[in-house]
Amino acid sequence: MDLKSIKGIADNTEKKLNNLGIYNVNDLIEFYPYRYNFINLTSLKDVKEDEVVTVKCIVAEMPRVQYIKRNFNRMIFKAISGNDLFNVTIFNRAFLKPHLTLHKEIVLFGKYKRLNNSFIASDIKFNIIGNTIEPVYHLVEGLTNSSMIKYINEALKSNIYYDYLPNIYSEKYHFLNKREALNLIHHPHNKEDIKASSLRLKYEELFNFMFKINYLKKINNKSKGIKREFKSDYIDEFKKSLSFNLTKDQEIAIEDIYKDLTSESRMNRLILGDVGSGKTVIATYAIYLNFLSGYQSALMAPTEILATQHYHSIKNILEKFNIRTCLLSGSTKKKEKDKILEDLANGEIDLLIGTHALISDNVKYKSLGLVITDEQHRFGVAQRNLLSDKGLAPDVLYLSATPIPRTYALTIYGDLDLSIIKTKPMGRKEIITKIYNEDNIKDVLYKMLEELKLGHQIYVVSPLIENNDELDLKSVFDLEKKLNMAFKNQISIGILHGKLKTTEKDEIMNNFKNGDLKILISTTVIEVGVDVPNTTMIVIYNAERFGLATLHQLRGRVGRNDVQSYCYLISNKDVLRLKVLEESNDGFYISEKDFEMRGSGDLFGLRQSGEASFKIANLKTDYQILLQAKMDSLDYIEQELYKDNDYYNNLVNDINIIN
Ligand code: ADP
Ligand code: MG
Repeated sequence: MDLKSIKGIADNTEKKLNNLGIYNVNDLIEFYPYRYNFINLTSLKDVKEDEVVTVKCIVAEMPRVQYIKRNFNRMIFKAISGNDLFNVTIFNRAFLKPHLTLHKEIVLFGKYKRLNNSFIASDIKFNIIGNTIEPVYHLVEGLTNSSMIKYINEALKSNIYYDYLPNIYSEKYHFLNKREALNLIHHPHNKEDIKASSLRLKYEELFNFMFKINYLKKINNKSKGIKREFKSDYIDEFKKSLSFNLTKDQEIAIEDIYKDLTSESRMNRLILGDVGSGKTVIATYAIYLNFLSGYQSALMAPTEILATQHYHSIKNILEKFNIRTCLLSGSTKKKEKDKILEDLANGEIDLLIGTHALISDNVKYKSLGLVITDEQHRFGVAQRNLLSDKGLAPDVLYLSATPIPRTYALTIYGDLDLSIIKTKPMGRKEIITKIYNEDNIKDVLYKMLEELKLGHQIYVVSPLIENNDELDLKSVFDLEKKLNMAFKNQISIGILHGKLKTTEKDEIMNNFKNGDLKILISTTVIEVGVDVPNTTMIVIYNAERFGLATLHQLRGRVGRNDVQSYCYLISNKDVLRLKVLEESNDGFYISEKDFEMRGSGDLFGLRQSGEASFKIANLKTDYQILLQAKMDSLDYIEQELYKDNDYYNNLVNDINIIN
C-alpha cells in the first residue's frame, strides 16, 4: 500500500521516509524503535531540588507567550498536579501554545523549583497518558519523533502486515500473535511488553532468514555440477604467469576451488577476505580453470566502476592464455551490446564481466560453467540464484570483503562453503591511521601536501550531511573550494558523486587512474571501491557516521603497494570505537570489535545491503535466538512441514525453479 494513503504523508514526507528505507505501509509498520524513553512519572511532593523529573499535570490557565528577542520566547502558564497548583515556564516552545488548551492532560519534563513554586520545563509531551514508555525512532532531517509515532499509528490501523511465523512455533513458544506484537513493540506499557514483542518479531525474522539459508544448503548439497578433468601442467602455467607468489591462504583457497571444480557436486563457495587480501587473482584462477575445461564464465560486480576495473585487471592476466574477455555494462552501446550477446551465444566470448546487466533475460550463454559475484553481500539470497539459472548448474563463487567472525559467517552463510583469507600479501605495511578533530584540519592539509609532493595521490570522502543528495552535493563543492584554497589551485581535483552520468564517472576515474587528477573527492562509499596503487592517503570526513567495517573497507583503498599509506579520520565527536581503527589493520579483529560494541549493526556494509540486514534482530545479541531458529527451520524443512504453509511452500517452489 502506498505511503501517501497514510494520513499526513504527502510527497515531501514520503521522500524523507524513503531515505530511511521506508517505501510502503508495511515498511512503516516494520520500522521498529531503536530504543525507548522510559518516562517515570513523579509526584511533585517527591521531587528533589534540581532533579530532572517528569510530571503529569493538567493545564490550569491559558498560556501567555512573551517574545524576548528574535528567536527567543518564553511561555508561562499554570498547571495542576494532584492537589498542587504551580507555575510552568518553558522557553522557545511558543509553537505548542495552540495545543495547551484548558484542562488538557500533559506531561512536563524539567526541574521543579520549590522555593518559587515554579517548574522550568525543557519539554512538554501529549498523548503519553497511560503509557509511560515512548518509542524512539531513527530519523532524518525534517522528521520528528512525534510525527513518526503518528504515521506508524496510522499505518498500524491499516492492518497491512504478513506473518512469517508458522503456527507450530508460535504455539510451541507461546508467542504473541503478530498483530499484538506489532502493537506492543510500538506501544509497550512496560518492559515485559518490549521483551515479549521483540522476541516474537526477532524469532520470526531469524526463522525466515534461516529457512532460506537451510533450504538453499539442502539443494546445493544435492545439486550435481560439472565434473571437470585437467592436465595439471596447464594449471601451473597460471601460477607461473603471475608477477608474485601467492600467499598461504590464497594457495589454500585455490586448492579448495580446484577440488570443487573437479568434484561431481556443484561449487557454492564464498571467499571471505579482507580488502587487499588478493581475492581477484583467486577469482581469475577459477576462470582460468573453467576455461581450460571448455566453459564460459560470468563475473558480476556491484557497480560499473568495479566491473570496469575487474575487466582491465583480469583481462591483463588472462590475455596471454587467449581467453577472450568482454565488458557488458549499462552504458554499453546498443550495437556493441548486440555483438557481445551474439558472440556470447556462439561461444566466442569466454568471460563476460559486468553489473546486473549480466542477469537480464536476453543474455544467453553457450556454455556457462562458472558464475562469480564480487561483494556478494550486496545481492539478496533470492537474487544470487538468478544467475545460476543461465547455464547448466554452473559453479558459483562469491567474493566478499566483509570479514566477519567465523562463527557468524558459518551461520549466515550456512548454505555456502567458506574459504577465509587472513594473510595479506608480503611486504604490505600497516596503514597508519589517526583521528583528527576538524579544528586541526590544518595538520591534515599539511600531511596531504607532503604526500602530494612525493607524487602520490589522495582520496577524500566528503562530509555527509543528512542522506540528502542536494546538501551532500553542496558539501562536496564546498570541500573542493577549501582544498583549492589550501593548495593554491596547484593541485588537480576530481569529484565523484551520485548525480554524474556513467560516462562522466568513467572519465573522472580514468583521469585519476592515469594520474592527471591528484585528489579524488567522493561522496559515497561504493564509488571509491577502486584499485589505484599510487593512492597512499585517504581522508574521511564525519568518520563517526560510518561503521567500523565500512571505515575499514574505505581504508583498504590505500596501502595497495609497499609504500607507506595513511588514513585520517576526521571527526568532531569523541567516538571511542574509532580508536579500534587506530589500533588495528586486521579486518577480522575489527569486525569482532564491531560485533562486541554494536552487534551486527553496520557489519554487512550498511543497512542497504540486501542480505542479512535485519529489521529487528541483531546477530550478536540475538545469537541464541538465531541458533534456535536455525534448528527449528531445519526441522521444518526435514519434516516437510512447510508444505502446509502457503508462504514457505511458494518460497520453496521459487527456489527450486531458479536452481
Ligand atoms: P581484494 O581482495 O581487495 O579484491 P585485490 O585482489 O584487488 O584485493 O588485490 C589487491 C592488490 O594486491 C592487487 O594489486 C593484486 O595484484 C595484489 N596482490 C594479490 N595477491 C598478491 C600476492 N600474493 N602478492 C603480492 N601482491 C598481490
Ligand atoms: Mg576485490
